[in-house]
Amino acid sequence: MANLVLMRREMVAIGQEMQSRGFVVAAEGNLSVRISGHCFLVSPSGVSKGGLRVQDLVEVDTAGRSAQGKPTSEWPMHREIYVNRPDVQGICHAHAPWATAFAAAGRDLDGSLLTETAALLPRVPLAARTIPGTAELALSIKPFLADHDAILLGNHGVVTMGTDLRAAFALLETVERLAQVTLLAEVAAGQNSVDAETLRLLQERGGPKSY
Ligand SMILES: [Zn+2]
Repeated sequence: MANLVLMRREMVAIGQEMQSRGFVVAAEGNLSVRISGHCFLVSPSGVSKGGLRVQDLVEVDTAGRSAQGKPTSEWPMHREIYVNRPDVQGICHAHAPWATAFAAAGRDLDGSLLTETAALLPRVPLAARTIPGTAELALSIKPFLADHDAILLGNHGVVTMGTDLRAAFALLETVERLAQVTLLAEVAAGQNSVDAETLRLLQERGGPKSY
């Protein structure tokens, strides 16, 4: 099936981009796409996303069964999304550091900070802290699935979804940028202008001399 070959190549390419962008290290993160109603292509367990090969990818049914290898341990989370969101065709999960900093701090993200995200991504909610790879993690995101395409996982990372894997990855990039700018804006808001006395002394010097 030509379409499946393209899906495998796209997943390998996006795995490399996730790694090169620093969204995952070691064997972190996972990817999946919906091949058909009850058949999915997923990244394997325990493999670097930057070193994926097309033959490493695993086809699974909804229950996570496969004849090709061991799928990602986070399959229950991916399954929860596909079952609740028939429109979703691709999913990215990563530990992108800026977004994960919010998840670690127990904070959600406010997309209204930026004109680029205010309408597209008004909020990135934070799911409760759970143990990775468990059914509890899958259930932790369920309350947010109806209204959100990106969710922070408590003390863990971020998951994004889209109409294909490329769209899910683009949303992951957007969430990471929003988290980065949010934190930088908070730092920038703490800047101090020079006080009046210092300004008077500077003005007395009469302009740049040895700057
Ligand atoms: Zn993870």
